[in-house]
Order: sequence, then C-alpha cells, then structure tokens
Amino acid sequence: MNAPFVSPIKELLDDLHARLTDRRDGEVATYIPELGKADPEWLGLAVATLDGTLYEAGDTDVPFTIQSVSKPFVYALALQDRGLEDVLKCVGVEPTGDAFNAVRLEPVSGRPYNPMVNSGAIVTSTLVGGANQEERRGRILSGLSAFAGRALEVDGKVLSSESATGDRNRALAYLMHGAGVLTCPVEDALALYFEQCAALVTTRDLAVMTATLAGGGVNPLTGETVVSVEAAANALTVMATCGTYDYAGEWLVRAGLPAKSGVSGGLIAALPSQLGLGAFSPRLDARGNSVRAVAACEELSTRFGLHLMRPS
Ligand code: GLN
Repeated sequence: MNAPFVSPIKELLDDLHARLTDRRDGEVATYIPELGKADPEWLGLAVATLDGTLYEAGDTDVPFTIQSVSKPFVYALALQDRGLEDVLKCVGVEPTGDAFNAVRLEPVSGRPYNPMVNSGAIVTSTLVGGANQEERRGRILSGLSAFAGRALEVDGKVLSSESATGDRNRALAYLMHGAGVLTCPVEDALALYFEQCAALVTTRDLAVMTATLAGGGVNPLTGETVVSVEAAANALTVMATCGTYDYAGEWLVRAGLPAKSGVSGGLIAALPSQLGLGAFSPRLDARGNSVRAVAACEELSTRFGLHLMRPS
C-alpha cells in the first residue's frame, strides 16, 4: 500500500517544529508587563497558499497580541484610504537601521522614517479613513479582521498594560505633534496604535493575513478584496526594506522575502503571488525578533528556494 501523500511544506513545518523546540536562547519581552506572561515554549508555524490551502505545525491556535506585525496591514489600510502621495507627506519609506522604538525622526520635517517603526506606525494609525476617532478605531479592527478572514478581538489586559507603561511611544507622539506631523491629539493617536497592537491573532491568522498581502489584497479564504493591488504591493515593499528593524538588511540577504516581526514573538513573511508565512514563538533576540520564528522562516526560504533575488 502506498504511504499517504504528505505535502513537502507540511513535512518541513513538522521537521522545523521538532528541531526548533530545542532552541531556548532569547528573552520574552517584559517592557509591556502583560507580555511577560507568555509561555516561552510556544512555537507555531503556518503557511497559507493563495489557493486557500493551510499547512500548520505546533501551537498555531494559541492567541497572542499581534503587536508590530499589525503595522504593514494598517499601513495598507491607510494607503487604501488616503493614497500613497498623501500618506508619504506624513510618513516616509526609508529604512532606519535603528531599533523599533528609536527616538529619531527625519531632520527638519520631523516626519517618521517609515511605517514599520513605532513613530511611523503611530502616525499611520491616524491616517486610516474615518470621520472621527471611533470610526478610525472601527476601521482598524475591521480591516485587520478582513485580512484574517474572521472577526478579531482586542486583549484588554495587554492594551491597559501598554497604555500604562508606553511612555517612550508617548514621547515620540509628542515630538511628532510638536513638529506638526501628528495633527490629532496625542492620546487619540496612541489609543489607536495601542489598540491595533493588542488585537489577538493566532499563527494561522498571520499566515492568512500575509497571504492576503501576497495575493494583491484578496483574502484567499473569503475571497474578499481587502485593499488594492497597489496598497498591498507598497506594504510588502516597505516590509522588505524595514520590516525587521536593524536586522532588515541581513534578513533580506538570508531569506529574500518581505517580512515583519513583533515583540510578542510573531513574524510574517510573504512570497508575492504564492503564499504567506506566519511564525510565532515568544523568545526574542537582541533586536526584538523572535529567535525561533526567524530561524524557521530563513530555513523555509532556503529549502524551497524562495529568495526573490535569485533566479528560479
Ligand atoms: N506595541 C509595541 C510597542 O509599541 C510594539 C513593538 C513591537 O512589536 N516591536 O512597543
């Protein structure tokens, strides 16, 4: 009797999961106190292809707050609602080579360098469509939900934990308000940004959300057009150059895919027109990227020859 067919993607995810559980280097983020409660052993790996097939290994059902992995999706929503030229007036697209929470803005203009670092993401949250704060809140949560293909909820504990301790982001917001780049009240901008970071997702959601960007803005499970092809492509482009902060250059050399990381341990990577990859494990390296998730994505890219700059 023939052995049942197991997809090579599923095989590699299982193999990576088995091998990476032995890696225990890195630290769980604690500067947002509630994040420190994460189980450091969690490891989830998921791939969603554009035909809607899902491949998963490990803890792909564990909910965690999306944190900075929300940034490219909210950027895509802002591009959809405002258009590239208007968004560029407020947030640049230049890599910084700095940490995610660096207190550094463009000289003279005071504009944040890009939407993948905290300063740029705080401004970007205020640029999504909506006549008032409540409408913008709704737009962000329903937009993230449309990317995931299901209704996402917000983790109230992580939200209050970050609001209570987020002085560095508050300082950034005041600087940008002083420079006239952030035009709404500082606390309104922070409320939007902290809430988007506290949206609860699973590793499976991350794969589907990323496949939606990889598919030009169309969710492969629901068929819904969430953002335009242009908005999705521009979000992926900025992920490629800025998505893993001061590791972005080395990441692109090694994995060759647009990616985005977050402090709860999530990481996404996209192969345009093909698939979205989600990975999650809470221990972070010194640059704030998940140790096991980075290792998993880099190996997956190498083993399947996904590097975008290499001829296939
Ligand atoms: N909410 C977090 C913060 O602003 C997100 C940072 C991250 O995931 N890198 O600090």
